[in-house]
Amino acid sequence: MDNEKGLLIVLSGPSGVGKGTVRKKIFEDPSTSYKYSISMTTRNMREGEEDGVDYFFKTKAEFEELIKQDQFIEYAEYVGNYYGTPVEYVKNTMDDGYDVFLEIEVEGAKQVRKKFPDALFIFLAPPSLDDLRERLVGRGTESDEKIQSRVTEARKEVEMMNLYDYVVVNDEIDLAKQRIQSIVDAEHLKRERIEAKYRKMILEAKK
Ligand code: 5GP
Repeated sequence: MDNEKGLLIVLSGPSGVGKGTVRKKIFEDPSTSYKYSISMTTRNMREGEEDGVDYFFKTKAEFEELIKQDQFIEYAEYVGNYYGTPVEYVKNTMDDGYDVFLEIEVEGAKQVRKKFPDALFIFLAPPSLDDLRERLVGRGTESDEKIQSRVTEARKEVEMMNLYDYVVVNDEIDLAKQRIQSIVDAEHLKRERIEAKYRKMILEAKK
């Protein structure tokens, strides 16, 4: 049963929801066995960041060359810069039996869904979605205009959720981290996965 292929885990969600913070929290935990796929980007390096740790920092020309060579599982333009997931690391690491974790924006996640329908897609949602209802039916303290803009925002976020398997509300970082870890643990216990493993074992035993 060794060398079973790893899972591809995709954490995504709206801009500003705290994907990076939750991802860092997960990887600070020594019990985390997933491998983080370091993305490539053309954005400038921020203070405290390191090339090859936070991102592989590339020029626009280098990035576009890699696009031509089909070196990305997905890539997207976000606030004027490219961000992409290098294909080689992800494939090799999954083939070695490790779970690979991507933390990417929603356009990229859509592309991964097409290429890896078996991947695990987790949507990180803002806590505002959770307390939206409460606020909407609350004591009428919010102006109509404010309520309207909240509804519009919430609608966009709910529509984005469409392609995901799970939704985790980021109300508290530690809780969000635990929920994500539980989802991944449960995914490993899916009947389809276990059954496939045993079928393979039986086939091999027959040889
Ligand atoms: P930042 O510039 O703040 O590090 O990241 C900006 C956005 O890019 C975040 O939403 C982050 O999740 C996303 N991002 C990081 N790496 C990738 C990637 O490889 N592909 C895509 N599509 N988005 C990414």
